[in-house]
This record gives sequence, structure tokens and C-alpha cells, in this order.
Amino acid sequence: MPELPEVEIWARRLDSNLAGVEVESALAPGVVTMKTFDPPLSSLASREITGVRRIAKMLVVEFGDLALLVHLMQGGRMRLFDKRASLRDKSARILLRLADGRELRLVEFGTKQRAWGALLPAEDVAKHEMVATLGPEALPAPPVDQLAEIVRTNRHLHSLLRDQRCIAGIGRSWVDEILWEARLSPFQRGADLDDDAIQRLHDAIGKTLQGALDRYEAVVPPDEVPDKPPMPLQVHKHQGEPCPRCGTTLEAVFFSEYVMTYCPAEQTGGRLLKDRRLSRLLK
Ligand SMILES: [Zn+2]
Repeated sequence: MPELPEVEIWARRLDSNLAGVEVESALAPGVVTMKTFDPPLSSLASREITGVRRIAKMLVVEFGDLALLVHLMQGGRMRLFDKRASLRDKSARILLRLADGRELRLVEFGTKQRAWGALLPAEDVAKHEMVATLGPEALPAPPVDQLAEIVRTNRHLHSLLRDQRCIAGIGRSWVDEILWEARLSPFQRGADLDDDAIQRLHDAIGKTLQGALDRYEAVVPPDEVPDKPPMPLQVHKHQGEPCPRCGTTLEAVFFSEYVMTYCPAEQTGGRLLKDRRLSRLLK
């Protein structure tokens, strides 16, 4: 799933390439994509796109006093095409046909339809359930005191940091990078972090996410909306390779839908965390 840096670079590029462009027509071919029906998507016709921004891992396309909130979920992507899609294109979830001939399309791959959109009065975006329940944005990292309050609970850091209600924008990829940068175990309880560890976590969140965004700004041309920006991951899914900092072989814990990668020398005091895939097989 795209996370804060990926959605942010999409929002920036979509904003600079779309602001001021008029919508000719808008439709959602499927029945499950739109979570709202009033105002109807068709009311976007002849409105101007006034901006595109990001909230957590969601995109907001603004049309004056209306806003389309889009959650990409796992397989959704917002793409800008020079030509219009055939309506038989099964991956198209929302199509915004633009007066200049281009098309902004929410596409989703795979058989599951999970990506969704909600067309709302602009002032209601902040009140939408998926927005109102968010924790503070992860970039810039919340102040150290606020982060300490968020983190010092009984939960493991790996799940806590990915919980959008605690802190918004971090997912399965960047959490591994952040914890590695902070030299903290993914299974450490938040309540056990001392002030020095909180400070390291704070610095790691900022450095890691800003670093990714800076990288995208450097490599993604201004007129391009990348399908998938090249994620500069050093640790996540690099199990079996040497740790870029200390050379120890990176280890991983496999879950059914994702992998958690860490450096045992620097993050877990040399302990190997239980491989849940293996322990499930042995049951
Ligand atoms: Zn290491």
C-alpha cells in the first residue's frame, strides 16, 4: 500500500499538473467505489480542479467547494492519462474526463474492489470518519512530547506506528525503515521506551519519511505522475542481505500478508524474533 511519501509525491505532481483544468464529465463504472451519492459524481461536470492534496495515505482532489476524498487501499492508483479509457477497462474505478482531453483515473488491480472515493462538500472532509479519527500526520514528526504520549502504551511499536489513529501516514514498508533507523525492536512495547528512545524514534520518523520524499522530488520529473515511485528502501524486504549500517544479516518475520524486516544486532539485542510462518506450519 502506498504510504505517506508515495501519496505525497502523487498529490504534488497531480496538483501541479491539474490545477485549473476543467472537468468535462465524471463517472464511476462500478457500484461499490463511491461511498457517497449526494452530491452525485456527475455534479463535477464543468467544474475546475482547484487543487490536489494528501491527508494521511489518502488523496483529496478539490473542485472549489466540493472535494473528492480517495482511499487507494492496497492496489489503487490515481493515474493521469493523455487518452480516455475504454469503459470496458475493468481496472477503472473512477474516471474524470478533463476538458483538455486527458483523463484522471482511479485504477485498481487485482480482483478485490477496495479502493473508494467520497464526494463531499469541501468543509466536510475534516469531519469524514476516515479523516476525523486520524492521529497527527507523521511528517513533520509530531513534537517529542506528543510522540511520547502516543507511543507510551502497551502496544508493540510495529503495530502502533502503522495505526492511522495513532499517527497518520506510516505503513508496512516505512515502519521497518523507521524502526531500523531508530535502532528499536518492532516488538518493543511503547510503554518501555525511555526518553532517549522516544527522541531517536522522533528523529527517525522525520529523517526516513523526509528522505524518501526528497528522493522522489529528485527523481520524479515535474510533469510526471509516477505509477509507482522507486521506493528507496534499505531494510524492508531485504532479509538475507547485510545490514547497510553494521553488516549483520537482516532477518525477517513473515506474516500472511506482509513481512517485517530488522537487524538483529542493532534492534533486538541479537535475538531472533519468532518466524510466525514457520511456527504456524509446525502447529
Ligand atoms: Zn545493523
